Amino acid sequence: MSYTGPEFAPHQPRRSPLRRPLTVALAALVPGALLGWGVYAAVGAPGGDGGTDRAAAAGTASPAPAATPASPATGTRPASPRDDAKDPAATPAAPAPASLKGKVVVIDPGHNPANFQYPTEINRKVDVGTHWKECDTTGTATNAGYTEARFTLDVAHRLRDLLQEQGATVKLTQDGDREYGPCVDERARIGNEARADAAISIHADGSAAGNRGFHVILPGAVHQGAADTRAIVAPSADLGQRVADGFGRETGTAPANYLGGGTGLVTRTDLGGLNLSTVPKVFLECGNMRDAQDEALLTDGAWRQKAAQGISEGIVSFLRG
Ligand code: ZN
Repeated sequence: MSYTGPEFAPHQPRRSPLRRPLTVALAALVPGALLGWGVYAAVGAPGGDGGTDRAAAAGTASPAPAATPASPATGTRPASPRDDAKDPAATPAAPAPASLKGKVVVIDPGHNPANFQYPTEINRKVDVGTHWKECDTTGTATNAGYTEARFTLDVAHRLRDLLQEQGATVKLTQDGDREYGPCVDERARIGNEARADAAISIHADGSAAGNRGFHVILPGAVHQGAADTRAIVAPSADLGQRVADGFGRETGTAPANYLGGGTGLVTRTDLGGLNLSTVPKVFLECGNMRDAQDEALLTDGAWRQKAAQGISEGIVSFLRG
């Protein structure tokens, strides 16, 4: 609505994992350059074997910047005497991270910003195998009116960007591009039909003030009607644990203090989006929109970037086994 806060912090892709090794290699090269151009000639052009990181590559594109030890443009730390002893040629090149090419991730941004305008449609019951349930819900909002649907879409976009950077194929179940929904059964079906290697539904909770923290919801075993989660329970638990680990690590927030016994993990058998999934899938409740302290995090674009980073790390870890 009128909220114009830090939601608009730019999406900031995290520094490439290549950056650190390249920077270290560059730091080692700087004192090498001091010894003369012979050293440079001996090791060849720095960064030439890995150069997918544009920023790092820009700093090493020509020998001139590397020959200036104090060049601030390279961002390298000052050389220490120990560095002088290093042979740049012996610095092992970091292996490029394995590409996620061929891996499919379906991100399900919970709810839909326009669900509020379609009460009849979203209240229609759909069969989720174990029972009938509303097509979709409006989701919650902060006391200031920042909706869960806007939150989930923003985190989904950030997460999509991070996963695509790793080479994954990413599909969103909705992108604020439809009138309402999709219904929970369709949300599951989208992941199934995409044959997703991992699927995640992004949410934020609407619990009482004082209830804080995140939790991951895992599918319990159900086998009823169209619902059969037996094959996905174990891989989903693995995915969920990795997402919880990554999310907690990157955001620095604690697991929920109001459910899950402090583990950040909850198993449920009443959610259509999980019951009808045939691919590994979890829900993530990133925090409690109704708690003022959690609200301050959830409405902060920089925090949401950390959240997306943590989720991405969990998914990537799961996909790489
Ligand atoms: Zn939700």
